[in-house]
Amino acid sequence: MKQVGKVYLVGAGPGDPGLVTVRAKELLNACDAIVYDRLVSLELVVPMPERVQRYFVGKSSSCHSMHQDEINKLLVKLAKQGMTVVRLKGGDPFVFGRGGEEALFLKENGISYEIVPGVTAGIAASAYAGIPITHRKQSVFTVLLTAHEAADKEVTQVPWEWLGKIQHGSIVGYMGVTQLPSVVNKLIEAGMDPNTPAALIERGTTGSQRHISATLADLPGKAAQEGIAPPALFIIGKPVLLSEELDWFGGGVLSGKRMMVTRPADQAFDMYALLREQGAEVLPLPTIRTAAHDDDSGWDEIKGLFELNVRGKAEEWIVFTSENGVRYFIQQLFDRGYDFRFLGRFKIAAMGTGTDRALRLHHLKADFLPTKSTSDVLAAEFSDYIKGKACKVIRVRGNLGDDRIEQSIEEADAVVLPLQVYDTSTAVWDAGMWACLDENPPDVITFTSGSTAAGFKEILGDRGEEIAGNAVIASIGPMTTQIITNEKMKVAIEAKMHSVPGLVEEILNYFRQHKA
Ligand code: SAH
Repeated sequence: MKQVGKVYLVGAGPGDPGLVTVRAKELLNACDAIVYDRLVSLELVVPMPERVQRYFVGKSSSCHSMHQDEINKLLVKLAKQGMTVVRLKGGDPFVFGRGGEEALFLKENGISYEIVPGVTAGIAASAYAGIPITHRKQSVFTVLLTAHEAADKEVTQVPWEWLGKIQHGSIVGYMGVTQLPSVVNKLIEAGMDPNTPAALIERGTTGSQRHISATLADLPGKAAQEGIAPPALFIIGKPVLLSEELDWFGGGVLSGKRMMVTRPADQAFDMYALLREQGAEVLPLPTIRTAAHDDDSGWDEIKGLFELNVRGKAEEWIVFTSENGVRYFIQQLFDRGYDFRFLGRFKIAAMGTGTDRALRLHHLKADFLPTKSTSDVLAAEFSDYIKGKACKVIRVRGNLGDDRIEQSIEEADAVVLPLQVYDTSTAVWDAGMWACLDENPPDVITFTSGSTAAGFKEILGDRGEEIAGNAVIASIGPMTTQIITNEKMKVAIEAKMHSVPGLVEEILNYFRQHKA
């Protein structure tokens, strides 16, 4: 009998990807399929390995949402195919997340399941706004309320009469932006003091969090004035006033800025973290992907060089020009049964701080680094360095690298052995990524290689021009800038140090100078 899989109903937290649980991370690393909602941070989803099936079931303007019964059936179907399924939901699965319904449906269908709680938006957004929802003497209980269906129904299930009498507690209202005026009326009608402190938090815990406070009576007007839009929640009660002192979040140079990161997600964790640290909201929308090159002939050709006891007189070099080159080379080296001892005979040349860092991560140190991180400078300086030594040089590369380096090494009378270890291709976006772009036009688009810019144009076509035209374009260096310019986009920021930290530094400088 075919083995039936299992469904994990997992809370993703409120938006800041750092607020996901360790258990959720473990499951995300191990699952076969993920079914995810709109309010889930894409930083949790996009870097998942390609073998994981991805289903976006959230609402978006460009594609209609899946109905709850369709989602339920999808979960059962995937589990029956034997998969380990993560059903990733914003916040906590059992707090207004319909997680209960999904669990019941799984149970009815004999599918085993587990619930992994998450940090619910009400708790997280209030914490990020500096509002303790319980506070000694001021708020001794809290109510989590859905304002969506509650307010306008003739026979409401919400005990407004009772809620209106709350004095030493707080009310946290989900799904409440459109219903806010009616909720406020009901509470005031039921006797709540119109001067009760109240707050509304939009996109809590993300780089674009906004937070307004007013008296209960004035909150709806202020919300409309400020154009607060979902996802947002309101908090009513005395502790709201504490946010005047405790409001700690935000204030970074990049706060409120949406940064599109086009580099492959599995290599972008550092960049996401650096940008988030400065307050940005990250849009993880890679335009290229890399994969191991699946033709072994390059390795077969250099096999002889790895025979430990056979050693020629010539100097032997390996040249790395990218982080990916290092990563895939080391992986393939091990996959072929070798280990670091087999590298002992080689000298190593590397171009770029990212490449150098990738080598150091593997406890390898470059013997040669060009004075500038460009192919031209590497080609010229390295061939000068090895001239006349009759070296053998393994040039580790991807499919897109140019041949200049090979040519000039050959001109220096060395034998070049090109070894293609990875291929770069245009990324494929799922519906959740498109929805992210539709809803969050980027303020800044970052390109960390020419291929990310070419991929951007390929994925977005004409629409790319409009999006790029409305954003500040940041490039990692002159070679990348050249390609961005060829793609008819205008670069406003170019990194002086051609590395991810160098690029982030330059973006910070730009926004320090261009304070909105
Ligand atoms: N299960 C989720 C709630 C889903 S209902 C949880 O536990 O958080 C969706 C509502 O949650 C939104 O309408 C909004 O009121 C609230 N919400 C979700 N994410 C939010 C965020 N980052 N900031 C403010 N409110 C949020």
